[in-house]
Amino acid sequence: MTLAYVALGSNLEQPDRQVRAALAALGRLAGTALLRHSSLYRTAPVGYADQPDFINAVALLDTALPPDALLDELLALEQRFGRERSFRNAPRVLDLDLLYYEGIFLEGPRLTLPHPRMHQRAFVMAPLAEIAAGTTLPGVGDVSALAAALGADGIERLDAAD
Ligand code: ADP
Ligand code: MG
Repeated sequence: MTLAYVALGSNLEQPDRQVRAALAALGRLAGTALLRHSSLYRTAPVGYADQPDFINAVALLDTALPPDALLDELLALEQRFGRERSFRNAPRVLDLDLLYYEGIFLEGPRLTLPHPRMHQRAFVMAPLAEIAAGTTLPGVGDVSALAAALGADGIERLDAAD
């Protein structure tokens, strides 16, 4: 079994419910346990601003799936949740990004690990820092320090009840 971090995002069709349902679905993947997950965060859209706010979260999995099979499962879940691919940074029902897979560093046509843009994204690093404070991820860096450097502009942590 291997540790893997996954980022979740949604800004369509009751995004908070989509993200909660996706967290549960991650825990039901074959050979996979959901070890912990962050709070939900409401975040301002990045890249293409004229769209609803996002709900983001990060999950820590312990998985027996190899990285490419895990990516297949994540993309299949996006489809099951009704994701349509239109343009880059477009609104979406569910986005699942494989941030980090312990011990794997690769740059392939369909999978790059660690995720190449994660350290630039406050909507990823803030929830990651919540569940991985004090962790240094090889190839990424000190999670808390990276999150602190990005700041929390446009990032709002929601209460468990929200
Ligand atoms: P984004 O997440 O950047 O908005 P998409 O969700 O549309 O974009 O993903 C585009 C493609 O990125 C996926 O089809 C997948 O093959 C590729 N990809 C490369 N590395 C990763 C990764 N670490 N996690 C998720 N997808 C990845
Ligand atoms: Mg994605």
